[in-house]
Amino acid sequence: MNYEPVMGLEVHAQLKTQSKIFCGCSTKFDAKENELTCPVCTGMPGCLPVLNKRAVEFAIKMALATHCNINEKSIFARKNYFYPDLPKGYQISQYDKPLAQKGVVEISIDGQVKKIRLHRIHMEEDAGKNIHGTISSYVNLNRAGIPLIEIVSEPDVRSSQEAGAYLRELRSMLRYLEVCDGNMEEGSFRCDVNVSVRPVGQKEFGTRCEVKNINSFRFVEKAIEYEIQRQIEVLESGAKVIQETRLWDSDQNKTFSMRSKEEAHDYRYFPEPDLLPLMIEQHWVEEIKRTLPELASEKKLRFMKMYQLSEYDASQLVQEKFLAQYFESVVELCKEPKLVSNWILSELLREFGPEQVASCPMTPQHLGELLVLITNGTISGKIAKHVFGKMLETGQAPQAIVEKEGLVQVSDHVQIEALVIEVLKEQKAFVDKYLAGQTKLFGFFVGEVMKKSHGKANPAMVNEFLKKKLKGV
Ligand code: ADP
Ligand code: MG
Ligand code: ZN
Repeated sequence: MNYEPVMGLEVHAQLKTQSKIFCGCSTKFDAKENELTCPVCTGMPGCLPVLNKRAVEFAIKMALATHCNINEKSIFARKNYFYPDLPKGYQISQYDKPLAQKGVVEISIDGQVKKIRLHRIHMEEDAGKNIHGTISSYVNLNRAGIPLIEIVSEPDVRSSQEAGAYLRELRSMLRYLEVCDGNMEEGSFRCDVNVSVRPVGQKEFGTRCEVKNINSFRFVEKAIEYEIQRQIEVLESGAKVIQETRLWDSDQNKTFSMRSKEEAHDYRYFPEPDLLPLMIEQHWVEEIKRTLPELASEKKLRFMKMYQLSEYDASQLVQEKFLAQYFESVVELCKEPKLVSNWILSELLREFGPEQVASCPMTPQHLGELLVLITNGTISGKIAKHVFGKMLETGQAPQAIVEKEGLVQVSDHVQIEALVIEVLKEQKAFVDKYLAGQTKLFGFFVGEVMKKSHGKANPAMVNEFLKKKLKGV
């Protein structure tokens, strides 16, 4: 029998606000244990939460970017459970009245666009962290109270590839909006996947399992593939898939059961009595809407059209907002977008990750000046690569390096003609072979002339003179 996998994803994204969602504590990542805490986020009795307006603004940005309806009124609720990293005994979240509902995210796989519907986006507070030592366990509450949004998709995902594309799209949006840094290792972007399989043609969904807290895109894809296979085997053996929560073991490449549905929590949600309903006025939403940046998918299409770039090049350039900005700054100086794109994608990204480009020592100004030296014939592309390396080492402007090292391209007719004549004299034997029909030797002559000029001869002129001379010999 053939089976079709069905998946829905739940993403937790930490919002990059300065302070926590219900108190004034800092949200810094690498502080000393329990340094960033106060009576509110350590759950002391009698403390009152105060909602961080910036957190709401960030959540609204993501809701708008994903085309959700934003509820004029949403309600914070207590989600009750006991765990040492949750000293209050409940998490403040949203339940039946979330911030936003019914969105859509477009993913693109090999040029094919597919819409993944969003069920909801709600706001909540993060919990602390338990750290288990050999003898004792510890609790670090620095993370407790960091604002989160939870983004819940409809079960529209049909393959691990689609899941990966969806998650990368969400992460890109959050980073473009500058509301979440999307750092999976540090846990600011976390993902649970719900997986089920059903016989092809069956209308009802199969029983699902939830795989929790997977901390890389690669692992998400692997966990899904493992889980699909496991569930198919269960069904093929005549047994039933049990609804449960599972964890991914990245050492063994397996998922394993954490708790079954019977052990699942009843969270006894009820409206948080210490917070008023969250009322969002339409004019505020409109104001926020006006601040939304062009997102990666729109930018990609614009780059393809405006700069005649291939879809591949454009998608590489827009993977980070600051990388795309960098590209456009260089294009302002050097008006050959394809050349700029090639240099950024091959030379710059060889040295720096796409996320490092914003703060890399090679400024767009300097790279632009370097490329202008190529397009106006001052230096060859090959010399430019050498200069690029020197710029990285010294931070100097390209013009200064070219002058200091005497790298200016030789475009003088007399000089180049002399070099060509010299080479053809020296390589008499090869010239004879060339004239006898081995025309592939042309490249060899070009190489010899370039060598003689220490790479500085204008290659176009070298070609031209060689052609002339070889015909005339
Ligand atoms: P819970 O609150 O238990 O996590 P939800 O109904 O909120 O359950 O669903 C959580 C996620 O599971 C959603 O992303 C949803 O799309 C997905 N989901 C629901 N049913 C299925 C199913 N049969 N197979 C795969 N995913 C599913
Ligand atoms: Mg769930
Ligand atoms: Zn606090």
